[in-house]
Amino acid sequence: MNIHEYQAKELLRSYGIPVSDGRVVLKAEDAKTAAGELDGPLWVVKSQIHAGGRGKGHFKEPEAGEKGGVRLARSVGEAAEFARQMLGRTLVTIQTGPAGKQVNRIYIEDGSDIEREFYLAFLIDRQTSRISIVASTEGGMSIEDVAHDTPEKIHTFTIDPATGLQDFHGRRVAFALGLSGGQVKQCVGIVKKLYQLFLDKDMDMLEINPFCLLKDGTLRLLDAKMGFDGNAIYRHPDIAALRDETEEDPKELAASKFDLNYIALDGEIGCMVNGAGLAMATMDIIKLYGAEPANFLDVGGGATKEKVTEAFKIITSDPQVKGILVNIFGGIMRCDIIAEGVIAAVKEVGLKVPLVVRLEGTNVELGKDIIRKSGLNVIAADDLKDGAEKIVKAVKG
Ligand code: GDP
Ligand code: MG
Repeated sequence: MNIHEYQAKELLRSYGIPVSDGRVVLKAEDAKTAAGELDGPLWVVKSQIHAGGRGKGHFKEPEAGEKGGVRLARSVGEAAEFARQMLGRTLVTIQTGPAGKQVNRIYIEDGSDIEREFYLAFLIDRQTSRISIVASTEGGMSIEDVAHDTPEKIHTFTIDPATGLQDFHGRRVAFALGLSGGQVKQCVGIVKKLYQLFLDKDMDMLEINPFCLLKDGTLRLLDAKMGFDGNAIYRHPDIAALRDETEEDPKELAASKFDLNYIALDGEIGCMVNGAGLAMATMDIIKLYGAEPANFLDVGGGATKEKVTEAFKIITSDPQVKGILVNIFGGIMRCDIIAEGVIAAVKEVGLKVPLVVRLEGTNVELGKDIIRKSGLNVIAADDLKDGAEKIVKAVKG
């Protein structure tokens, strides 16, 4: 789960980590008052969406200006004007995809005088099963580009969980960033607090870009992106409360409410499968036959008819879906339950695209019988290969 920059900064602030003073604005008419509460003479007006690259992004509507989703203002009036222009507009960045994201919240910050911009991140490194710190002098720009063009400028250290974060980790970051004197001590303190916050809140990603050295010699975090482990959210009601449902894929949101493992993808073939392994194999074989899956969906072992109905509705609500492949191996899951769920869903929402069903395992004959008697226009398949071939053929001709 991700949160907005302003929410992330509130967390940083509560740990005593240096961030700028700022105000969140939901309505254009409040922007002037909010900006007026900050000192100036520089204000930063920042679109709040769950995607990076806002500064270099552009709005779909030209009247929102060509200057991107993060703008520097020289007066309260200008800050309010930028906020007004951004609110309600669709911001497209390298991370949003071409559809962009609507800006519903603005964060106005007291602007900082930047000397140098760095990159600093805490991540879970699955290879070493440790938290790793990534630091680079090349802050403020896309870290993917830095990794591609000048990988030697990216420094990575892992932290031994048995001993935890030590001061030397902080010093290594400071030296990697070319800091000296009192800045090293500041850096050690910040790194220590960031690590504690990362652990306390069960984060899986904490990215500060830019982490800045200001003209006055102090360090400050000017942007923050946080990701939290979805499986640990139940332990953090304070974090769960920060969820912004407008930022999430509505289909994934509906799926999470019914406890379905669903990920939306870009293809045209909707998949309803049980078991993550079979779901992966189904996606692979669809690709093998020349089409693309529209989703990953594992309905799970103990799915009820209602859950299957909901899953089917989520798949059919996707306008990209040009055909559906139901591929069930009934071990714990019973084929008749799947059949009943599919029929209930079709009765409710209709079926406008070809549907291929492959059932195997527990109560398979009963399941097939239910589908046969329903009068639904279903293409039956014998096995995984046959199912994939038939649905691709039905969609692509
Ligand atoms: P992003 O583009 O979504 O990553 O948004 P950022 O918050 O990183 O802002 C983009 C850029 O705006 C930063 O890399 C900075 O160069 C600039 N910026 C952000 N805050 C300030 C500030 O307080 N003062 C100045 N001078 N520039 C800022
Ligand atoms: Mg940034």
